[in-house]
Amino acid sequence: MSQPDSSPTDLFQRSVQSGRIHSAYLLTGVPPEPGQVALDFARALVCNASQDRPCENCPTCQRSQPKEPIALDGDGKKGPLFRHIGDHPDLFWLERGASATRIKISQIRAVQKALRLHANEGGYRVAVIDQAQHLNAASQNALLHLLEEPPPQTTLILIADAATSLLATIRSRCQRVTLPPPPQPALSDEQTPEEIRALAERLDDMGKISIPNLIDWAEEYRGARAIAAAEVEVLLDTSSRWLRERVECRLQQGQAFVDPELGVFSTLAACRKALIQRNANPQMIAERALFALRGAVIQ
Ligand SMILES: [Zn+2]
Repeated sequence: MSQPDSSPTDLFQRSVQSGRIHSAYLLTGVPPEPGQVALDFARALVCNASQDRPCENCPTCQRSQPKEPIALDGDGKKGPLFRHIGDHPDLFWLERGASATRIKISQIRAVQKALRLHANEGGYRVAVIDQAQHLNAASQNALLHLLEEPPPQTTLILIADAATSLLATIRSRCQRVTLPPPPQPALSDEQTPEEIRALAERLDDMGKISIPNLIDWAEEYRGARAIAAAEVEVLLDTSSRWLRERVECRLQQGQAFVDPELGVFSTLAACRKALIQRNANPQMIAERALFALRGAVIQ
């Protein structure tokens, strides 16, 4: 595949050089790369050097150097609502609380307030909202107010797994930047984490699993919702990769009929959407995904 002329990272570099900065960006891609790109961009916007920002040498870069992250708490009880990037007073980082399934409105309001203050250092104020797909409807609406009337010299960087997980009114106010997916090793490859490889092996045996065993499998996703939801997220991601490999393999073998598999992709996408709903039941979602996968294998 040919390389694009200009990568999203170049786009940010050019914005920094030219000083043409949008008030909001929506960065999508596979973690952790978008987080790193957002971090570099935020730090570059406040760096004092004339080029190659962030320079890592100026006093500002020293202050914005990332530190061991403090866990956030959406209620502000067990941890802060947001944190600073390094010790920089004008750079903010927001994500969902350590045990929360959503980014709460209290967190958005806190960042909103911080952005409306005058910049401590007289330059840009930047807020990064990581995992923006976990903003609930109230948080998205609060965010919309900020996007409609951005304070001067402020930039908001939203990071999401997919742009469609945000309201259209939010998307339309952001400059979109899409990072290409990184090449992934095959599921059976040694570089693939053991947990994922084991899950893929279970999926390989999908054709031999009885219905009761399939229900037992889904029952493994019971318990504390945030933890179960994270595990189901891994199941859905791995299943998508597993299915993609299966389709590629079948097509290479000259088997053109892959409609059942293609149907399961949309079920997995629906499961992913259901998983971020407030009242989502991870076990039920896992069951739906597993049944769909089995249905495609046993034809
Ligand atoms: Zn610098």
